[in-house]
Amino acid sequence: TSPVIALVGRPNVGKSTLFNRLTRSRDALVADFPGLTRDRKYGNGMLGDKAYTVIDTGGISGDEEGIDAAMAEQSLVAIDEADIVLFMVDARAGLNVADEAIANHLRVNQKKTWLVVNKVDGLEEHSAMADFWQLGLGDPQPVAAAHGRNVTALIEEVLEPF
Ligand code: GDP
Ligand code: MG
Repeated sequence: TSPVIALVGRPNVGKSTLFNRLTRSRDALVADFPGLTRDRKYGNGMLGDKAYTVIDTGGISGDEEGIDAAMAEQSLVAIDEADIVLFMVDARAGLNVADEAIANHLRVNQKKTWLVVNKVDGLEEHSAMADFWQLGLGDPQPVAAAHGRNVTALIEEVLEPF
C-alpha cells in the first residue's frame, strides 16, 4: 500500500493549495468520500514511480481551549491514518499560538512529521524560516504551494524511506 501523507495546520496556511498540487498529476485520482469523512479529503498522486495518498483537512482553528479541543477531530483522525504528517505554517503570517499548540501535539506523536513553511514566494527564505525553529520539529522546509516552489523536492525527500 502507498504511504499516506496528512496535511495539517490552522486554516488558511495553504493545505488545500498543496493538496491540489500534489494530486494534480496525470496519474492522480482524486477521491472524495463525503459521507464517510466529512471534513477530510483524500487524493492520490505519483512522484516518479512512487504512489502516495494525501489527506487534506479542514484545519485547526486554535481558538478552542486545550490541545484536545484545539486539534479538530478530522485532523486527529488524519494524523492517525497517516504515515507522514506535513504540518503547515504560514511564512507571511509568522508564528502563531495555534501553531505552537499543534506542534506540542505533534512532538509527542509517533508519526514522522515535517514542518512545512508555506508562502515563501517573495520572501528571503533563510530569515523567513528563523522563527519556526522554536517549534521543535526540526528543519523548517520552505515551500510556495501556489507556485510549486520546492514542492517536488520536499515530497521526494518525504517519500524517500518508502
Ligand atoms: P487552507 O485553509 O490551509 O486549505 O489554505 P488554502 O489552500 O485555502 O489557501 C489559503 C490562501 O493562501 C489562499 O488565498 C491561497 O491562494 C493562499 N496561498 C496558498 N499557497 C500560497 C503560496 O504559496 N503563496 C501565497 N502567496 N499564497 C498562497
Ligand atoms: Mg483548505
